[in-house]
Amino acid sequence: MHADPIDALLGSDERAFRAEVRGFIRDTLPESTRRNADLGRHATRDEVLHWQRALYARGWAAPTWPEAYGGTGWDPVRQFLFTLECGLGSAPKVPAFGTKMIGPVLYTFGSEAQKAFYLPRILRAEDWWCQGFSEPGAGSDLAALKTRAERVGDRYVVNGQKIWTTKAQHANRMFALVRTATGARRQDGISMLLIDMDSPGIELRPIIGIDGSHSLNEVFLTDVAVPAGNLVGDEGRGWDYARFLLANERSDITGVGRSRRQLARLRALVGQRGAGAGLLAAIAEVDIALTAVELTELRYLAAQGRGEDIGAGASILKLRGTEVQQELTRLLREVLGAEALRFGAAAQGGAEGIAEEYLYNRASTIYGGSSEIQRGLIARAAMAEGA
Ligand SMILES: Cc1cc2nc3c(=O)[nH]c(=O)nc-3n(C[C@H](O)[C@H](O)[C@H](O)COP(=O)(O)OP(=O)(O)OC[C@H]3O[C@@H](n4cnc5c(N)ncnc54)[C@H](O)[C@@H]3O)c2cc1C
Repeated sequence: MHADPIDALLGSDERAFRAEVRGFIRDTLPESTRRNADLGRHATRDEVLHWQRALYARGWAAPTWPEAYGGTGWDPVRQFLFTLECGLGSAPKVPAFGTKMIGPVLYTFGSEAQKAFYLPRILRAEDWWCQGFSEPGAGSDLAALKTRAERVGDRYVVNGQKIWTTKAQHANRMFALVRTATGARRQDGISMLLIDMDSPGIELRPIIGIDGSHSLNEVFLTDVAVPAGNLVGDEGRGWDYARFLLANERSDITGVGRSRRQLARLRALVGQRGAGAGLLAAIAEVDIALTAVELTELRYLAAQGRGEDIGAGASILKLRGTEVQQELTRLLREVLGAEALRFGAAAQGGAEGIAEEYLYNRASTIYGGSSEIQRGLIARAAMAEGA
């Protein structure tokens, strides 16, 4: 039995809340969905939508939004506990694109018409959003993006290409960064547009990942007409909105609940099969690292709740949270040996899904800004603090 480092820090109200969330997940989540997640499979579109609608019915669709827009109004500790329990309970990850990314951008910078139209649709899971930021040649260096939007009368005409667009095949809407001008600073000529994916001129091409899944896409845009009312905020200020959005994306990537569950799986396998001293030490180390991520996330959330600036906190969480995820799947493979090389139905006896999850997890230190980029941001923040 291992102590729960979080539980020891909670008051009785918070423990009761945690138990309520756990009970809701146990009673509401279909067993087949839980099993799929346990096996490291990507949740299907139907599984995700079913879960999102169950959360909406319970009033929990947007844990981080203000109550005025249909959010829960939970304090940061409750938000954290909710996410932790969802991971521990193997609930499908609600795509961050709607509730975590474009939703907060819209209630902070969007027009009244955009808020009235899009926010309820996000809550009710009526739209599936995708993120059209990266392009060939514009990933880490996002300001190099070339997709152009030209204002013609009451619309923008968009031409260009996006890449690595997660689940675009499910999406009916995309929030995209486009170039509307070329200024002295590359960042100045960028705008954010809301694009309907069924607009004429949009073509999708799948990219099949190393884990065999179709999660990624290329999106080609040729003379796509977008109503001028779909511009977010001011023309040319897309870079500011994107930075706001990316900070939310990064802090959502720690996945500590899922990592705790993986650690339990690892320990169960070691219990059955045994392990040498080196492996046991590595498991202890990853447990300590995971505990540090959990406590740091909780500390940052509490600081944000007090209105404090957490500096490079989101980068620190993203960096360490994803390193822990990768280390856990590496250790699972080590315990299982050659069995962990088998894919799909061929993997059995505890090895189910490990090959796929290990391979997909290689991407976690790339998406949302690579580890090298996060280290650069952390170093700059540290130097600024020391100055
Ligand atoms: C699984 C997955 C899902 C994704 N989903 C989406 C999505 O839905 N929407 C979207 O818009 N994008 C998405 N992305 C794209 C992701 O944001 C980019 O892959 C990422 O920003 C890195 O950009 P890049 O691939 O162009 O690599 P590059 O920027 O070309 O980087 C190549 C290498 O150089 C390093 N490097 C680059 N610049 C520096 C620097 N200044 N200092 C030190 N090292 C540096 C990087 O760390 C990396 O190792 C996804 C990516 C993956 C893998």
